[in-house]
Amino acid sequence: MNHDELRALDRQHLWHPLTQHSLWGTPDPVLVMDRAEGFHLIDVDGKRYLDGVSSLWCNVHGHRVPELDDAIRAQLDKVAHSTLLGLSQTQSVLLAKELVDVAPEGLTRVFYSDSGATSVEAALKMAVQFHAQTGHPQRRSFVTLGDAYHGDTMGSVSLGFSDWFHRAFKHLSFPTIQVSSSDVDAAVAAIEKHAGELAGVVMEPMVQGAAGMIMQPRGYLRAVADACRKHNVLLICDEVAVGFGRTGRLWAVDHDNVKPDILCLAKGLSGGYLPLAATLTTERIFDAFKGVPSEARTFFHGHTFTGNALGCAVARASLKLLVENVLPTATERVAHLRAALQVMTQLQHVKEVRQLGFMVGIELVKDRASGAAWSVDERMGHKVCARARRYGVIIRPLGNVVVLMPAPAMPAPMLAELVNVTRDCIQDVTETH
Ligand code: PMP
Repeated sequence: MNHDELRALDRQHLWHPLTQHSLWGTPDPVLVMDRAEGFHLIDVDGKRYLDGVSSLWCNVHGHRVPELDDAIRAQLDKVAHSTLLGLSQTQSVLLAKELVDVAPEGLTRVFYSDSGATSVEAALKMAVQFHAQTGHPQRRSFVTLGDAYHGDTMGSVSLGFSDWFHRAFKHLSFPTIQVSSSDVDAAVAAIEKHAGELAGVVMEPMVQGAAGMIMQPRGYLRAVADACRKHNVLLICDEVAVGFGRTGRLWAVDHDNVKPDILCLAKGLSGGYLPLAATLTTERIFDAFKGVPSEARTFFHGHTFTGNALGCAVARASLKLLVENVLPTATERVAHLRAALQVMTQLQHVKEVRQLGFMVGIELVKDRASGAAWSVDERMGHKVCARARRYGVIIRPLGNVVVLMPAPAMPAPMLAELVNVTRDCIQDVTETH
């Protein structure tokens, strides 16, 4: 089937995520991807595009990586999926052990699910039920950061509630205590003030990705972690986006040597190959769920594809490659990316470039002197990213922030190409506006 026929069927039958369909396919036609090679996606016409956002922040080593493909093929010859309800599975067991080996100290239990949102959903329920079963049923609220995003299930929506996106669901969501992600004193004060009613603090450590690559000030994570420890509040770190090398280290919490009580993982867990997520926690939390059946202390949460064998097999291969091949050269390539990004500062409509590891946000502004922003309807970030496709680069904005999220394994010359094309497109689009 040719590109136009597939486009027509797409328009007829698909409902794309987080997409305003009245604008879908305008001004540029929908791009249908067909295959990939390394760090490039290839469309139905055979045109190649550098995958500049790692297929929505999940790809780690590129596409069609022999070690990862082989892991899936080998597992396919055994079994694709069998349940973790009432049974166990070789790959799910081995991945759990290998994750615990490299996880922040103290995290010894792995609860699998399927996506970032479900990993957070499980974490919330674990935290509340833990307190309920250890004599603190009043500890059931959460502190969250301003502009947080933790996924699109209702619990995750509640943590990242935004009137703009979620007004239709307000009555279905629970309130949280929102703190500033830039004012550490205010955050610590809120934790202290509400300590007696808090189940946990939920945060993306170091950088809030979907908020627009918002960096926390130095020491913020450490101070929040210390306040949690002091007041018996669980620290729940969402490393769905920032984990698996995305910040240049294996875990974002490693930057501040913080040990969370619960760690949420997805996206890069399977190298970006298959939907797989995990919620890691401590023995202390796990033990609070033990008891005789009639006590109903069980964690009543589970999904059909929990711990899927193909997903776990590829995750094991990905973790091995990440630790052995990617992380040892990450610092050097992150420095290369930082140096390349210097060109952005010369552009008259770039307000700020924010970077941690392989996560980059380039904030555009209509007028640098007054700080005036482009309006939502001007879709300036979108226009820049649409232009990049002409030059064979796929990037995706968050409002007026152009996001670059190369795979942590991307080689330096491709990182440079990604930056240079983005620079040219920002200049073309914003200066000829
Ligand atoms: N948490 C964070 C920090 C995320 O960035 C995302 C997705 N971008 C999610 C959770 C949700 O993950 P998923 O889309 O796999 O449900």
